Amino acid sequence: MAANTNFLDIKRENFKEAPPAERVQNWLEYQKLLPAFKLQQQASRCMDCGTPFCQMGTVLQSGTSGCPLYNLIPEWNQLVNEGKWHEAYLRLAKTNNFPEFTSRACPAPCEGSCTAGLASDPVTIKSIEKAIIDKAFQEGWVTPRQPKLKTGKKIAVIGSGPAGLTAADDLNQAGHSVTIYEKADRFGGLLMYGIPNMKLDKNSVERRIELLKAEGIQFIGSTEIGKDISLEELQTAYDAVLLCIGAEKPRELSIEGSHLKGIYAAMDYLTLSTKHYLNKSEEEPAISAKGKRVVVIGGGDTGADCVATAIRQGCKSVAQFGKYGQLSTTREAHNPWPENPQVFTLDYAYEEAKDVLGEDPRQYFIQTKAFIGNENGEVAALETIPFNRFDTSDAASRIWEAELVLIAIGFEGTVSENLSAIETRSNRIKTADNSYQTNVEGVFAAGDARRGQSLIVWAMQEGKKAAQEMEEFLFNKTVLA
Ligand SMILES: Cc1cc2nc3c(=O)[nH]c(=O)nc-3n(C[C@H](O)[C@H](O)[C@H](O)COP(=O)(O)OP(=O)(O)OC[C@H]3O[C@@H](n4cnc5c(N)ncnc54)[C@H](O)[C@@H]3O)c2cc1C
Ligand code: SF4
Repeated sequence: MAANTNFLDIKRENFKEAPPAERVQNWLEYQKLLPAFKLQQQASRCMDCGTPFCQMGTVLQSGTSGCPLYNLIPEWNQLVNEGKWHEAYLRLAKTNNFPEFTSRACPAPCEGSCTAGLASDPVTIKSIEKAIIDKAFQEGWVTPRQPKLKTGKKIAVIGSGPAGLTAADDLNQAGHSVTIYEKADRFGGLLMYGIPNMKLDKNSVERRIELLKAEGIQFIGSTEIGKDISLEELQTAYDAVLLCIGAEKPRELSIEGSHLKGIYAAMDYLTLSTKHYLNKSEEEPAISAKGKRVVVIGGGDTGADCVATAIRQGCKSVAQFGKYGQLSTTREAHNPWPENPQVFTLDYAYEEAKDVLGEDPRQYFIQTKAFIGNENGEVAALETIPFNRFDTSDAASRIWEAELVLIAIGFEGTVSENLSAIETRSNRIKTADNSYQTNVEGVFAAGDARRGQSLIVWAMQEGKKAAQEMEEFLFNKTVLA
């Protein structure tokens, strides 16, 4: 083991990032790795603390603490420190089906609960994970693995997001014949059409889909279950069915003027933008921020992705409205380690806005009261009032001019109207606690559809656990535990 005070003696160094003014000129990933020797040094900051909170994967005070995939973090840190990259890859691949996705887009709750973070800065777990998987692909260590046996069982997975892909991968490796049905024209769920390319390059999603195809999984795109094929037809054709259909029903903002042209759901905007990029279209995207004053309503991560996208499209200005106040720069007493730190950070989008447009776009304690249109029925401005403040009189209201408004106030839950046999509760597919079995025997559910809008790592964990339960359903035992 490395010197056990390295977490104090060596300064944390994270990803290198392209300068904001440079990176907004393109859609390429903006985070780059440190050189290998530096990464080995960073890995040595892991003190092998004995109780690795970083890999506990739990929920504390409604935040994620530790890695929900239970990645064997101290083990691969030590292997990287010793320069044993191949062994580190093998340890990482034991728990994580797709480290190339998590190491790019995971918010790294592992780092929030890293023990080194108590006395110093946490280990740069996510960038070490990225270094391991990027090297594994470069060196040709990631090759199609053919299942050793075939069970003769057939499984349909609906939805190709991280939950569906993870379950399909595990079930395929256990010897079942797996078919994934996806209603979109490309596979990957929100990995493809939610998270923008600068955070997660779509080549890495497509590369993994090709590997899974080479391993025997069948992919059927542009096919909506419940519309093009009924759930009942699938139940007849397959031994078990898994619903990983996400939580894509957006929360709507029904206020005066919400019918006006120029007001869109964030997901419609982000999806069209990624399609436009991938299709290498020369024309303006169907929804474009170019030359416009943009307002994003909703203070979360989806809103931040809209900000970064609008800047790349050449918006004139951008403001992002949040109902709550600015977080403090250090943990508050009610948010102790190892809880997920609720602290103020300058996310990539905000750094870009500050650098390129001159200010952080976040506006706090603000609520939209009405949209104001022009004579063409287009949005021209928003009227806002303070939220959660005593003064909500008209005098405190404010007008913001805008030609493009993006609604990013979250998701209500899953869209299951065409799957009427499946019971839901609060817009989530209903299962018993700690189970993935729906009310219909042989039909299971996992990911955001069951859990509500969450994170890639939780969706992957759910995919793994659902796969185990499906094996038990088919055989009364599982090789996946
Ligand atoms: C804009 C945005 C950015 C995000 N950024 C991050 C991030 O940076 N890091 C992070 O960890 N998490 C992020 N998340 C959350 C994360 O993407 C999700 O939690 C995760 O993708 C959920 O995985 P899933 O497989 O359950 O569902 P999804 O990824 O939503 O996939 C569901 C799939 O099912 C398909 N489908 C739905 N109904 C049917 C049907 N009837 N028939 C066939 N196919 C169907 C959909 O087309 C979709 O492809 C983000 C979410 C959004 C919206
Ligand atoms: S998947 Fe996320 S939580 Fe797990 S080790 Fe990687 S960055 Fe950390």
